[in-house]
Amino acid sequence: MKDCIFCKIANNIIDVDKIYENKDLIAFNDMNPQAPFHILIIPKKHISTINDLENTDKRLIGELFIAAKKIAYKNKISDSGYRLIFNCNENGGQTVFHIHLHMLAKRKMSWPPG
Ligand code: 5GP
Ligand code: ZN
Repeated sequence: MKDCIFCKIANNIIDVDKIYENKDLIAFNDMNPQAPFHILIIPKKHISTINDLENTDKRLIGELFIAAKKIAYKNKISDSGYRLIFNCNENGGQTVFHIHLHMLAKRKMSWPPG
């Protein structure tokens, strides 16, 4: 996707603080962190919203969560805990239309979310 900022990040056209990468996904620090630890885990494949997922994306979505688990372990936040969020469209608060899993940690999260 030519004008997608996260495709540009996935293709190394825009530089970010990479936390983790494999052939399917990349994780990097959010530029406007909402917690002391706030990263985004994105598939390299462009998918605009969760509404656009297809059955063939099942493995890819699973990979995002497996990456989150590994990142948690490496950053010693598995036990203290973290929050994983996908926002979808306007009411979900989505502003970048390339799906991304937010991973927030190192502070106590409130519930319900605002
Ligand atoms: P959304 O609101 O779509 O769920 O989340 C988009 C997130 O992407 C926001 O938390 C925002 O701070 C982050 N973001 C947007 N553009 C960039 C960017 O160019 N670099 C980085 N590192 N984060 C970005
Ligand atoms: Zn994209």
